Amino acid sequence: MNKKIFTNVKVAQTYGIIEDGIVAVSGGVISAVGTRDDYDTISRMLASEGAAEEIEIIDGRGLYLGPGLVDIHTHASDVQFFTEDPIACAQHHLMHGTTSVFPALYFSFTPEQYIAAIDQMKEASQKPGGINIAGVYMEGPFLNPKFGCDKENNPWKTVDPGQYMPVIEAAKDFAAVYCVAPERDNILQYVHDVKTLVPDAVFAVAHSEASSEQVEAIIPYGLKIGTHFSDATGKVHKWSDVEIVGVGPDEVVLMHDDIYAELIVDNMGVHVDPYLIRLVRKVKGDDRVILISDAYAAAGPRPEEYKDCFDINFDFTGEIAGSKLTLDQACRNMMKHSGCGIAEVFKFAASNPARAIGFNDRGEIAAGKRADIILVDSGMNVEHIYIAGNKIR
Ligand SMILES: [Zn+2]
Repeated sequence: MNKKIFTNVKVAQTYGIIEDGIVAVSGGVISAVGTRDDYDTISRMLASEGAAEEIEIIDGRGLYLGPGLVDIHTHASDVQFFTEDPIACAQHHLMHGTTSVFPALYFSFTPEQYIAAIDQMKEASQKPGGINIAGVYMEGPFLNPKFGCDKENNPWKTVDPGQYMPVIEAAKDFAAVYCVAPERDNILQYVHDVKTLVPDAVFAVAHSEASSEQVEAIIPYGLKIGTHFSDATGKVHKWSDVEIVGVGPDEVVLMHDDIYAELIVDNMGVHVDPYLIRLVRKVKGDDRVILISDAYAAAGPRPEEYKDCFDINFDFTGEIAGSKLTLDQACRNMMKHSGCGIAEVFKFAASNPARAIGFNDRGEIAAGKRADIILVDSGMNVEHIYIAGNKIR
């Protein structure tokens, strides 16, 4: 059925919660949001909209109803990479409430691997099982190899249009975010070429130890995101003889109100210390924090020191290798570490990321938005999932 009314739900809004709310959906889009008192008006309105058909009434049993989660930066499910099986990875995230997912393509890829992976994700996004693949996250190619794996074998030695243009041509609008390390030589040529081909491109500063001036030089082109804030970022000391803390990408992200900070929030606060999570939330405010999973597939054993860290990965040398997160777990962790509530985590994991990348058709429970909806309990455990009004679970 095309027309639905969710009743008996607590509706997560960007400003708070509507207790005893109702949400009407028609043709895959949210058509009205209100309280139980509005039921007669809303159901009459829904009946008169479009074709005459039965309205499905869904009793939400007091659950929270919020926007489907938007994970703009993730590489894998808990066991394999998107490039190994995009549908399985997309489904893994979907079953945890992520209705829009953007596989991240890492800077260890050669040009040929980038193009193949972009094509693979486009193709998967057209299949029913890949319905939540909404684009890709270009984590590269020009990052600082000092802050990533495969330091020696980085295939992107120089900023060479002959090498990168075919990759941008393949990615174009399908890439939601283009990451750069602003300290790379001639990076502005790359940024300029991306911007020429993709006028709405969103840039992120990532895997970088650029100076504040180098990072700020990218802002006029559309630098909007600090990739995994405080993870894989550094600072160059200006004065060799003085022990003074430098500034780098993280400080620029904190300084500029319009730049969003991505956070990997794991259960034990390993990627970002809980104190720093609270500081970032305080400085950036609740409209500029983005939760990402940055899930990665690595199957090394968990060292004793990390025995309680169930949502991060280790490689076989015992080094931390990304997370095993899905965004629902990241939301639970965020509530624990920062003391925020359900309405806030829906901002961090849906409204803010959707707004940051210009996906203004989703990420909120509001009339006119796509009916990507999840129903969760008070602990952010996902019970039901809808994409464009169609029930997934
Ligand atoms: Zn990264």
